Amino acid sequence: MTRVSPPDLQSFLTDLDMSVHAANDWGTPANYIPELACIAPDQFAISVALPDGQVLSAGCHDQPFSIQSVSKVFTLACVLGRIGDELWDRVGREPSGTSFDSIVLLEREQGRPRNPFINAGALVTTDALLDGRMPADALAEVLGFIRTAAGDTNIHIDGDVATSEKVTGHRNTALAYYLASHKNLHNPPNSTLETYFHQCAIAMNTDQLARAGTVLARFQNAPRLLSSERARRINALMMTCGHYDGSGDFAFRVGLPGKSGVGGGILIIAPGKASIAVWSPGLNNYGNSKVGTEAAHRLAQFTGWSVFAG
Ligand code: GLN
Repeated sequence: MTRVSPPDLQSFLTDLDMSVHAANDWGTPANYIPELACIAPDQFAISVALPDGQVLSAGCHDQPFSIQSVSKVFTLACVLGRIGDELWDRVGREPSGTSFDSIVLLEREQGRPRNPFINAGALVTTDALLDGRMPADALAEVLGFIRTAAGDTNIHIDGDVATSEKVTGHRNTALAYYLASHKNLHNPPNSTLETYFHQCAIAMNTDQLARAGTVLARFQNAPRLLSSERARRINALMMTCGHYDGSGDFAFRVGLPGKSGVGGGILIIAPGKASIAVWSPGLNNYGNSKVGTEAAHRLAQFTGWSVFAG
């Protein structure tokens, strides 16, 4: 079924919200960022933005959460808009098969990260966004992009989450200095890290995130922030790399491009059909939302939405 009526979809989402609450294992919130570690795992929200402008939701869809690595999609869009294909001189486009914060491949591949969604690649992308400016200017650009995409100016950075990650972000600090040693950071590592931690600390609810994703779903009435070619390519990277070493499993189970974050959010794009945001803060072994992934799987089964189906 590729056509699903909004009332049927709404009742599916309402039932889904009720049934996920029967879960006895919600996964574990990101424990290396103290501000996220203390969030109760048994929470769930889902929003589906449709081409006619409706947003259907269930669960705590108006509660802001930390979008973390979902922000990397928007930073990438901004950077491709600024420098285009030049980015690919500094970052690859291949899945890594390693965890999001791994340093192993970076050493083997002389400081050129595998893709823009693992932390090393996201640091290079953020460095390209910074481009000699003050962190506040780069952050204003990515926040402006997200607000315009979502049609909502009430989206902000949670300073406590950014500070919390800065204090404990030893791995990201190591990655940044390692990249700098390979001359793949053009700004002082601390400026790039500062920008990166704040970008990850953007807080949104699932309604806002689903609306922001409409620029990637290429809806007729979505703000024109991206060319269709660029949206297609970002979607391809989300499919192959958006869930780190869980990307193959997500493609297999859900069949749609998705980008996860350790705050428990996932943005999922069904091109031309829907932009979906799910949130549940407990993570699976890959660092992706446990219940969120299961909900995405069930939504894909119900709707039949898949980039692998006609
Ligand atoms: N800010 C987080 C980090 O750098 C983002 C990781 C993620 O969401 N997967 O570790």
